[in-house]
Amino acid sequence: MEPVLNYINGTFQPAASGHTLETVNPATGQVITTVPRSAARDVADATQAAKAAAPAWGARTMEERIEWLERIADALEAEAETVAQLESLDTGKPIALARRVDAARSVANFRFFATYAREQTVQTFTAHGAINHVHRSPVGVVGLITPWNLPLYLLSWKVAPALLMGNTIVAKPSELTPLTADFLAKTLDRLELPPGVFNLVHGYGPDVGQAIVEHPDIRAISFTGGTATGKIVAATAAPMFKKLSLELGGKNATVVLDDAPLDDIMDGLVRASFTNSGQVCLCGSRILVDASIYETFATKFVSAVEALTVGDPTLDETQMGSVISKDHQAKVESYIRLGLEEGGVLLTGGTSETAPVDGVSTEGAFLRPTVLANLDASCRTATEEIFGPVVTLHAFANEEEAVAMANNTEYGLAGSVWTADTARGHAFAQRMETGIVWVNTWLNRDLRTPFGGVKQSGVGREGGAWSMGFFSEITNICVQQP
Ligand code: NDP
Repeated sequence: MEPVLNYINGTFQPAASGHTLETVNPATGQVITTVPRSAARDVADATQAAKAAAPAWGARTMEERIEWLERIADALEAEAETVAQLESLDTGKPIALARRVDAARSVANFRFFATYAREQTVQTFTAHGAINHVHRSPVGVVGLITPWNLPLYLLSWKVAPALLMGNTIVAKPSELTPLTADFLAKTLDRLELPPGVFNLVHGYGPDVGQAIVEHPDIRAISFTGGTATGKIVAATAAPMFKKLSLELGGKNATVVLDDAPLDDIMDGLVRASFTNSGQVCLCGSRILVDASIYETFATKFVSAVEALTVGDPTLDETQMGSVISKDHQAKVESYIRLGLEEGGVLLTGGTSETAPVDGVSTEGAFLRPTVLANLDASCRTATEEIFGPVVTLHAFANEEEAVAMANNTEYGLAGSVWTADTARGHAFAQRMETGIVWVNTWLNRDLRTPFGGVKQSGVGREGGAWSMGFFSEITNICVQQP
């Protein structure tokens, strides 16, 4: 594959230093291509281009920008198979998942914001003989920093509303997964988006991400990634009073109440636990089950987990591919070992040594879906984010205890409740300290709804009106009527 290049001011170019790094297929360990190893100088060039392009892009009408989003959605849709192939190659995720989720949602993000924007009306408030007009102007240059688990899905979730609201962009994808961000840049270039409106700088987080957050001309940062990195981003941006949206880590609870129809929900629970090898920030990694059904649940769940097809991501039938890298595999395995040290019992799965995946490259970063039981709900394995194919099972005596266990974590991103009684599930959900709770479903997303976490899972909300608000400066013009 051709080397990936930065996209700055409408030109594909290497890092100013000429340095590169390699991107690797985690399912085979093979190098796919090289990527610029950029630095602050490249970010400065990108920001200068974005700043120069901002007045003209911001001056376009909303309708013109909506049409741009539609054009981008059409172009990505026409190349959906390429997007899926690139995403699967870069992440090790199954091709079927990349088609169904990553490629489809990247198109949907652009399409959604175009349609949603058309439905909006200008807000006014009348009082004391005056009309207040809520006015939205672009923020200016915005910085978008995204992780490796859902690369184009999450980048397009930010690019679409940022462009819509008239901003220009300096974006940085994870250095582990640069391919679909590069594909987006090529698509925008082919569509002749004006130079400087979208700029892409590749490289390591502490070099490129940090330079974006530090740059005084970048007025808003939308960051999705780990909580530890989010703290650095927040500490760097706060003294400059930048607008900040932080979508961070989670340790999500899946709560199974005593009346849950186990046979009907098992597929949903396996999906909630192991989609994308558990590397979705919304995956449930702690399953809390009413003690009265715990043994039956554990037996059914383990048998459903063992039925998953794990292996070569290029095969249509594969349901779980590799994790993102050998390093990440080692991190996940260290948590499996920690779980055993903390008194856990392995119900299925294990490390690549104790439970190898058959028929895959020995250089690939593969793990079997792993279920640990018998752990105290407050131990490290059950409260720290693993972000891999590992879940822990815990029994609770009553709903009070279930609520306490669900909330016993520094995170609060997402969760799910499973029950035959939707009113009971809804009431339980309101007691969970999390940004999103699903009742009898998972990853069922309406893009108009607020998305984001509480506690250490983030600051701010994205989605629908919240994204449009974040990517604009909202002011009020009060006009006294004659
Ligand atoms: P990281 O926090 O390691 O990285 C996220 C992005 O930030 C990457 O592009 C990274 O670059 C960059 N970065 C690293 N250091 C800095 C810095 N000092 N300043 C600015 N940017 C920096 O997360 P991961 O990529 O490992 O992604 C996994 C995490 O993302 C998990 O914790 C997961 O829960 C979370 N996540 C949250 C979601 C949500 O919506 N709440 C959704 C998806 C994931 P580089 O890769 O080069 O280090």
